[in-house]
Amino acid sequence: MPVCAKLMVLFVITAYGPIYAQDFSADPDRMEARIHALGEFGKNTEGGVSRLAFSDADLAGREYITGLMQQVGLQVRVDTAGNIIGRREGSESDLAPIMFGSHIDSVPGGGNYDGDVGVIGAIEVAQLLYERDIVTKHPIEVVSFTDEEGGLTGSRGMIGKLGEGTLAVMSHSGMTIREGIARVGGNPDRLELAIRKPGDIAAFIELHIEQGAILHEEGVNIGVVQGIVGIRWWDVSVEGFANHAGTTPMDRRWDAMVSAAELTLEINRIANELPGRQVATVGKIEAFPGAPNVIPGKVIMSLEIRDLEVDKIQHVFDLIQKEAGRIAAARSTPIQFSEIDVASPPAPTDEQMRRVIAASAQDLGLSYALMPSGAGHDAQDIASIAPVGMIFVPSVDGISHSPREYTSALDMANGATVLLKTVLAIDNGALE
Ligand SMILES: [Zn+2]
Repeated sequence: MPVCAKLMVLFVITAYGPIYAQDFSADPDRMEARIHALGEFGKNTEGGVSRLAFSDADLAGREYITGLMQQVGLQVRVDTAGNIIGRREGSESDLAPIMFGSHIDSVPGGGNYDGDVGVIGAIEVAQLLYERDIVTKHPIEVVSFTDEEGGLTGSRGMIGKLGEGTLAVMSHSGMTIREGIARVGGNPDRLELAIRKPGDIAAFIELHIEQGAILHEEGVNIGVVQGIVGIRWWDVSVEGFANHAGTTPMDRRWDAMVSAAELTLEINRIANELPGRQVATVGKIEAFPGAPNVIPGKVIMSLEIRDLEVDKIQHVFDLIQKEAGRIAAARSTPIQFSEIDVASPPAPTDEQMRRVIAASAQDLGLSYALMPSGAGHDAQDIASIAPVGMIFVPSVDGISHSPREYTSALDMANGATVLLKTVLAIDNGALE
């Protein structure tokens, strides 16, 4: 059961400043009302949203978010990569900003919570500070990254990794990413202006729904994310011998599909039996020539492995490759792996940040669990230039990228209150 979070922030008497005694926490009703309001933009018939980056619905949603940011005292601009950034100056002008936020674009047929909770939650934090006249030492920057679902476009732009090749990619909206960035107010010809270097951001924190079922099923309030898992992909080809399916006896076949099937089961067994949370998946398979009356002479299938540790991914792959060697020999069907260049390395969150988030949850009487993120997030890009942390809140039944995505108002507010407390702790030097 989620516990209602009441945040006690006590600014004790110091030589440096005034005394504040504050008791405040995020407002669940306000957050939920804003989630519903945002959900009007790109609303689909199933009750979710299709708010594809760069679409009309995205533009409308961005306008709504911009308005909210302005209402809570933030100076809003769009950087050249198309990210919306709302900034409030701190009391010490030489400090780098503490940044927090997420994204509001969705997948086609998506839900109302993926990304949105992080942006609405970040605005909630800015509002709580604004309403109580609390001026942080660091500037704060609330960010809504552009086109997260299309490949972390905005955060890649922010770390200087948005190349010409990516800009030419056609996005789901029917526009290239280059056209899309220009449409939302960015400038694809001046992307260098969006780049933040190490040291430019003091810390980045992303509040997000878990998109898995662990927190919901175990009744835990807050997930303290250890990192975003790394991903490697391979094409696996199995060579058999195509022959007549009617006239070739069963003991005279080199059936690539049968070997591929056995290998698929072995991949599942290996990932299952090792201790840890690694995952391995065969998500795509194609037989050639691909006819009911021909023994498959060749099979091409995919292999994806994810884990928080580079070495673990390699270890799982080594075991799979060894098993493939055995199957290839036993069935006389050579098996080859060729890696596809989409690998994204694991992005661990900052260890100190994990402790701050966990302590914030604990102080609020909220239960928490350390966990990896199996999905990609903008935080993984920002991790290359700043210490990052991620706060997960429960997704009911673990459903995501679906209109049935749901997180309760109280869980959203718990997450935002933990975010607020984390921001204040970092502002007071918790990472130093
Ligand atoms: Zn997301």
